[in-house]
Amino acid sequence: MNDLDILRDMANQLKLSTLKTSIMKFIEEAEQGSETYKEFLFKILKAEVERKEKDALRNRIKRARFPYTKEIESFDTTFQKSIDKTKINILKEMKWIDNMYNLIFLGPPGVGKSHLMIGLGYRATELGYHVLFLTMSELIFFLKNKNNCRKSKEVINRLNKCDVLMIDEVGYIPLTKEDANLFFEIVSGLHEKTSICITSNKDFSQWTELLQDEALATAILDRLVYRCQVFNLKGNSYRLENRETIFK
Ligand code: ADP
Ligand code: MG
Repeated sequence: MNDLDILRDMANQLKLSTLKTSIMKFIEEAEQGSETYKEFLFKILKAEVERKEKDALRNRIKRARFPYTKEIESFDTTFQKSIDKTKINILKEMKWIDNMYNLIFLGPPGVGKSHLMIGLGYRATELGYHVLFLTMSELIFFLKNKNNCRKSKEVINRLNKCDVLMIDEVGYIPLTKEDANLFFEIVSGLHEKTSICITSNKDFSQWTELLQDEALATAILDRLVYRCQVFNLKGNSYRLENRETIFK
């Protein structure tokens, strides 16, 4: 092994992958340029830190399970007037996560509930928060299967460690009593520990019917709305108003 191979090997052992792959580039630049020893070291460590941060972000985004990407910046508040730019900017600061506040977006289909939630979740992930996004049916599926499937167990473990649990489409599928109980256990377990963000097409008065049990619905809502911002999104479906067709 020559000196360079030994250096690459040591970089590899220390998991300094940028140094390992670009060692010649760093050396040549230092030999040709006029950088000081301090600048040389600074450049290598900075590249390594940036690479690590990028890998960590990619990992957080993958583990968040977003179904697609939405930028919070692309949300048009002139179309959806139930929320304004000032409120969105406050939400973008993510203090609601630090203070373990919940967010609930209510409204009919197409008014931008999922867009807002995914956009905020994506931004939170960029800022270093651990987010987990699940539809209500996925949540119930993973809870039911956590003892007999590795994937479900892994997702539920992540759920208990995340900073924000995002549950999309609460109310679209009917729930059994068992499903409603599982939902209660999650809301109760995360209460004042983790932020929960929910989208639903059902307003609170319809949650008893959804959860098939008045006492349970009250107990769930009681915990969810204790420290919570509720957004009632109104208006027409953005999808229907901005329909894209094949034939012009
Ligand atoms: P919901 O979850 O309320 O059914 P979505 O958030 O999925 O609705 O929105 C449906 C589609 O319309 C998405 O592609 C979304 O990006 C877009 N959309 C909805 N509202 C807005 C808005 N105010 N500005 C920009 N795009 C929007
Ligand atoms: Mg939606």
